[in-house]
Amino acid sequence: MKEENKFLFSEEYKRKRERMVREQIIARGVENERVIKAMLEIPRHLFVTEERRNEAYEDYPIPIGYGQTISQPYMVAVMTEYLEPSEDDFVLEIGTGSGYQTAILAHLVKRVFTVERNCELLERAKEILNRLGFDNIKYNCDDGTKGWMDYAPYDKIIVTAAAPEIPHPLIQQLKPEGIIVIPVGSRWMQDLIVARKKVNGDMKIEKKFECAFVPLIGEYGFEE
Ligand code: SAH
Repeated sequence: MKEENKFLFSEEYKRKRERMVREQIIARGVENERVIKAMLEIPRHLFVTEERRNEAYEDYPIPIGYGQTISQPYMVAVMTEYLEPSEDDFVLEIGTGSGYQTAILAHLVKRVFTVERNCELLERAKEILNRLGFDNIKYNCDDGTKGWMDYAPYDKIIVTAAAPEIPHPLIQQLKPEGIIVIPVGSRWMQDLIVARKKVNGDMKIEKKFECAFVPLIGEYGFEE
């Protein structure tokens, strides 16, 4: 068996994945069956560098280079659950990073439009996602605080980097009754926000819990 296929189908990683889902995700209250199934199926270890592969299913974020991290498994699961993913959704994701969250989303919704400012990270993610056979993802190397006009409006938007406020282009590019999940606060500490766009265009904001993401850098984010 080719080395890369061994990684894909190895029983050892499958067992680690089942344990991760049981102890970190279900135990902490994630209930969405489709989200749980996606977390069981996507091989998270392929989205970390080889030397961190054994840690891929541990309960913390892991460095992926360029000062960035792959989010903790629970954070990916709970943010995805808050997004209420449906099979018909068009989802905009800002901060592709490793591409793991992208894979979870692409497994659950119709199409994913993912924007990453670091083109090398984006290329790496794209290569893995292509290898896994995803054909419903579009990639853009750009400042995601401006959203991605070409395919707007979106049903859902997820931002996996910390913003000083919800970037207003993202609100504009969200459909009425759409949902944005985004960490909002300072560079070091944020609240995880779930915001729903009302039919009149106002946002209904719900704060979930405190979190610490790497900063969203860009025109409507933090300065470099
Ligand atoms: N969901 C990813 C999280 C990666 S960390 C994962 O679990 O792997 C956040 C990512 O956001 C980093 O890769 C960083 O480069 C990216 N980022 C920061 N500011 C951005 C911006 N303005 N537009 C797009 N991506 C941005």
